[in-house]
Amino acid sequence: MAPEQSNRPFSRVTTARILVVDDEPRLVDALASLLRSCGYDVTEAHGGRHACELIDTLRFDLVLLDLRMPEVDGFAVMAHLANQQPECGSIVISGESSFTAVSRALRRGALDYVRKPFDPEELIATVKGVVGKQSLLKAHEDIQVRLEKSEALHRYIVNSSPDIVFMLDAGGRFCFINSKIEILLGYKPTELCGQHFRNILDDRDFAKGTNALNAPDISADNPRTLEIRLKTRGSRRATRHFEITAFPIDPQNWTHDHNTGGSGSGQRACYYGTARDVTERKEAEAFINFQAYHDLLTRLPNRALFKDRLELAITHARRGGQQLAVMFLDLDRFKIINDTLGHAMGDRLLQAVTQRLESCIRKGDTLSRFGGDEFTLLLPSVHGHEDASQIAKKLIKTLKAPFLLGEHEVFVGVSIGIAIYPEAGDSMDQLIQNADIAMYHVKARGKDSYRFFSESMSIDSTNRLHLERDLRLALERDELRVYYQPQVCASTNRIMGLEALVRWQHPERGLLYPRDFLGLAEETKLIGQLSEQVLDQACRDVGQWIRSGHKDLRLAVNLSPIEVEHPRFVETLMERVEASRFPPGNLEIEITENVIMNDLEQISQKLRELANIGVRIAIDDFGTGYSSLNYIHRLPIHTLKVDQSFVKAIRGGADDACIVNAIIAMAHGLKLEIVAEGVETDKQLQYLRTLGCHQVQGFFYGPAQPATDIDKLLVQKSIRTPVAG
Ligand code: C2E
Ligand code: MG
Ligand code: MG
Repeated sequence: MAPEQSNRPFSRVTTARILVVDDEPRLVDALASLLRSCGYDVTEAHGGRHACELIDTLRFDLVLLDLRMPEVDGFAVMAHLANQQPECGSIVISGESSFTAVSRALRRGALDYVRKPFDPEELIATVKGVVGKQSLLKAHEDIQVRLEKSEALHRYIVNSSPDIVFMLDAGGRFCFINSKIEILLGYKPTELCGQHFRNILDDRDFAKGTNALNAPDISADNPRTLEIRLKTRGSRRATRHFEITAFPIDPQNWTHDHNTGGSGSGQRACYYGTARDVTERKEAEAFINFQAYHDLLTRLPNRALFKDRLELAITHARRGGQQLAVMFLDLDRFKIINDTLGHAMGDRLLQAVTQRLESCIRKGDTLSRFGGDEFTLLLPSVHGHEDASQIAKKLIKTLKAPFLLGEHEVFVGVSIGIAIYPEAGDSMDQLIQNADIAMYHVKARGKDSYRFFSESMSIDSTNRLHLERDLRLALERDELRVYYQPQVCASTNRIMGLEALVRWQHPERGLLYPRDFLGLAEETKLIGQLSEQVLDQACRDVGQWIRSGHKDLRLAVNLSPIEVEHPRFVETLMERVEASRFPPGNLEIEITENVIMNDLEQISQKLRELANIGVRIAIDDFGTGYSSLNYIHRLPIHTLKVDQSFVKAIRGGADDACIVNAIIAMAHGLKLEIVAEGVETDKQLQYLRTLGCHQVQGFFYGPAQPATDIDKLLVQKSIRTPVAG
């Protein structure tokens, strides 16, 4: 910059354009030739008017001006010049020597004054001085303009940076920060200048952030880079992630005093840094990470994360000689709800279940969605079975209340298997597998409960696998048999109906009863096929007896909840009945109270459809479930089957039998038929007769028997009882 400053005035001296103005032509000539001899570019004006005309058309750097001229005098020319070419200077040359005229001329803007008659050398020196000064001023202005432009450019570059650019003083206070901070975090640069940078650090990154600049060997070539969260303005919790790059700078190199844009002068800057907003990348990473280890529907840890935590918990437990519990939870009835109400509702149910389960567990426990309707729970520190039982009971209880899905009220239960480390296994896989086995034992024994794993179960579970394979084969090879138990009129001993009860003629294990395989058939969903076979066979057998003269003979069939809850239950049942041309009026289906209560709305619709075509409906094992009399009264029910347990209670007399009394009285009130089950003794029979219960079934009249034996009984018209016969 220095050489340019010295060159310019010189170059301008040689080329300066000068207007010489005088009304004395001689003087104009003399001045002009003197100035031309010095290399100036001279224009001559004869009088003030001529000067003004030239000022209007040509550009000058300097005017040499006589003050006293006729018509248009020197002051008028100066005024015109100031108007037209304000940057052009003027030197007054005049015989006028009075102080007032000179000072007036200087006040009006004349740069200097030369008295007539002039000394050529003095004149040239004055002109040179003024021209030099003029061009210096001009050069300064040029530099100023260029500086401003350059600064605006740098400010633009800094403020348009996608990153926050900042400078800190030795104490860590902002001394410059670009305007990007306002867009990204909401702070005005001016309000941050002078503040310590820790004021905008997120609390969690406080230590990391404040120590960042203490690293010993950071420099511009080896800057410190770290990821950190910064708080947004006005919100205590909202933060954004930044990648900060910072390094120290030498304050000596940064002493300029001018404003650099953004805010702050940058004076005393000891650190320079940039902060790049990486929030989106961090969020994407966090999401990918979350996805890999969580179930997106319930937001619970997934199988992989569960296993990871379990592995860790086992290591801890082993080291500390402690116990831990793994629970395997499987929802009861979830599949039916999912099939019936659709997957969207199923999803909502899973979320609602998750919420309730979570409310039962402690902070260090891990509840995970293992898949479908299966959950696993890790309790990393338990003191024996009692602790785990407590939690299991809580989990079962919390799911007892109905779930509201839109307008549907649904009930789910949960079966829980528990494996305790180390007794139920000392590896992750073993614990999960054994909790699963224990869960299956709960399912097989009526669901909605919990059990601890024991060694005998693992033997059972291999048996179970064999049994499942055998049952599939049994269905293919027609190994199922239908036995019939008579439902007898207590006063006439006539057979009113026959209850079809399934048996399995196992090739190795002999005759198996429903308790041995029905649970398995339900779990494996083989129950549908099983029922079809039983129903077809029963319709064939009983249909034949009906056609051969026993036209009022009733066929009672048992249906499992899984079948009844199936959306196509009514259609499937009727298809089979029609296929075997069985009269619907002779068919009675037996369902349990719980089936009704679980999904009242759907079931009552189905029962009504069946009742409309003549099918009778019986409630089996009545008195053992949770039905509400209010609903029973409103449903199309024909028969109540008093459960065996109440009949067994008829021993000593009226006191023991009070429930039977009540059920029978109620059935009479509701005008329902009654069948008492499990009648084994004459005493029971007599007692039931006195209560007005006229249909009974039980070993007293005989167990369930194959069709050929029933054939013989039917021929006799009435059953010969041990007492009667
Ligand atoms: P349930 O419907 O209550 O059937 C009565 C059960 O009591 C039968 O057992 C029957 O053999 C037994 N029983 C009859 N009289 C007496 C008696 O005097 N004393 C005693 N102690 N028991 C008597 P079973 O055949 O073992 O059936 C058990 C259950 O299995 C049935 O209970 C029924 O719920 C179910 N079941 C049987 N067959 C089928 C079937 O084909 N499909 C479905 N879904 N369930 C069936
Ligand atoms: Mg039954
Ligand atoms: Mg029963």
